[in-house]
Amino acid sequence: MDILRRSAIPVRADSHAPLAASQHYVVVTFDDGLNSFAENVLPELEKRNIPSALFVVAGKLGTVPTWTSFAEEATWASVSHVLPGERMLTADELREISGRVVIGSHSSTHRMLTELDKTEAKGEIEDSRRQLEAIVGTKVALFSFPYGEFSNDLLAYCKDAGYDRVFTSLPALALGDPGEFVSGRVQTDPTDSPLELRLKMWGCYRWLPHAFTIKRALFKTLAVRLREAKPVETP
Ligand SMILES: [Zn+2]
Repeated sequence: MDILRRSAIPVRADSHAPLAASQHYVVVTFDDGLNSFAENVLPELEKRNIPSALFVVAGKLGTVPTWTSFAEEATWASVSHVLPGERMLTADELREISGRVVIGSHSSTHRMLTELDKTEAKGEIEDSRRQLEAIVGTKVALFSFPYGEFSNDLLAYCKDAGYDRVFTSLPALALGDPGEFVSGRVQTDPTDSPLELRLKMWGCYRWLPHAFTIKRALFKTLAVRLREAKPVETP
């Protein structure tokens, strides 16, 4: 986050202000709504005056995420770094932090929306918004797709449900138009080097949509090799 402050201007995810083409801007978002966001992330962001958005799985508050193993196979492995014992924020915890972070919806149950029928998909999009608005007491205007998967139909359902902006995981430059409805994102990982992080913030990854999948596959292979190479201890 110190690198972010030095390399770009942080802006809110719900910003509709025109941005100068000569500057680098960054919107910081988090998916799922784990308790580590409130405990570890938010205080560090606030120290640096960096606004953020948190996309919450409305029907899973207070639970331990069960989609972790599936997420490892998906394009957007947002919960692959979940620590043992980590859980989702509860409704009370979400209410407490809602004035300090923009709360958005990340569906009701974190299912792959592209695999649901129309009624189920609309339910995930509309019900989650209603549930979250009842908790935080303000309009929930942003949505992010579980696993980043979406279709034109899903975009239309989000518009019908009243969202002002939706976030995918396609690494496209975002907010070029202040009224933008579909915004791309680029995933950052604990394994990113400072240079890699800077390049991502400067938009250099927008032409490489499969970079993260390839990188994750490489790390997986490497991890397996390291495990296999580890000598077995004998008593
Ligand atoms: Zn997610």
